Amino acid sequence: MFTLPTLPKLLLIVLVIGAVWWWHRRNQIRRREQAELDRNQRTAATKGAKGKPAKPIEDMAQCRVCNAYVPAIGATRCGRDNCPF
Ligand SMILES: [Zn+2]
Repeated sequence: MFTLPTLPKLLLIVLVIGAVWWWHRRNQIRRREQAELDRNQRTAATKGAKGKPAKPIEDMAQCRVCNAYVPAIGATRCGRDNCPF
């Protein structure tokens, strides 16, 4: 049923296996490079976000009645429901 493959057939099989291996290896390297690039971009984005706060820092003032802290600028009352002020 099975006979020993001739030399040209053996060479063809080795060539096909080699091509598949080379293609697989190339994809692996490309995927690894892409993952590393994504990770670097994510790290850079995180560093950029850490550089400046999402919201500007506001001065806070304490409500004289209920002692709650509210933004000092633009607040006339603390805004809490149980505060009479
Ligand atoms: Zn209050």
